[in-house]
Amino acid sequence: MTDKLVHQIWISLGSNLGDRAAQLALARTHMADTCGKILRVSGIYESSAWGFESDHMFFNQCLHMETTLPPGSLLQLILGIERKMGRNRNGRGYTDRVIDLDILFYDDLVIQSEHLQVPHPRMETRKFVLLPLQEIAAGKEHPVTGLTVDEMLERCTDTSRIEKIIS
Ligand code: AMP
Repeated sequence: MTDKLVHQIWISLGSNLGDRAAQLALARTHMADTCGKILRVSGIYESSAWGFESDHMFFNQCLHMETTLPPGSLLQLILGIERKMGRNRNGRGYTDRVIDLDILFYDDLVIQSEHLQVPHPRMETRKFVLLPLQEIAAGKEHPVTGLTVDEMLERCTDTSRIEKIIS
């Protein structure tokens, strides 16, 4: 029997429909059931919709997990969780959503494929990702830029309102 390699992953969760805290909790349960062990969980932040107009504020959170899944399988499971939780992808662009799961980092891997880009290409521009991520990965370095999460946050020019609501 061969030992499977354990990988470190950081995941962003977001929800702006229904009982948002419950959606995040359910997504964490599904992630733990299917993707690996949750090592650290950030607090929950509330933020305005980013990139589109909406009356519904988001709840955002980040997870540090370990997994034996390769990146492609991890992505498929994450998309399956989004579907199972009722995520509707109607058309293009940003819309309200019961759950959004993104892979931020996978070890120090750099992946540039059609369906998966890691590190997540828009993490540096989004405070709703960087603030919760800082809680659980302040010193983690971006494998391309070499910047830590702390440094990315210092340089981030996102001025949208974001507030920590659950520790
Ligand atoms: P979204 O609508 O933001 O949830 O985008 C989901 C799509 O983004 C999926 O179909 C993935 O193929 C693609 N994608 C590319 N890179 C990533 C990533 N790092 N994490 C999650 N989804 C990704």
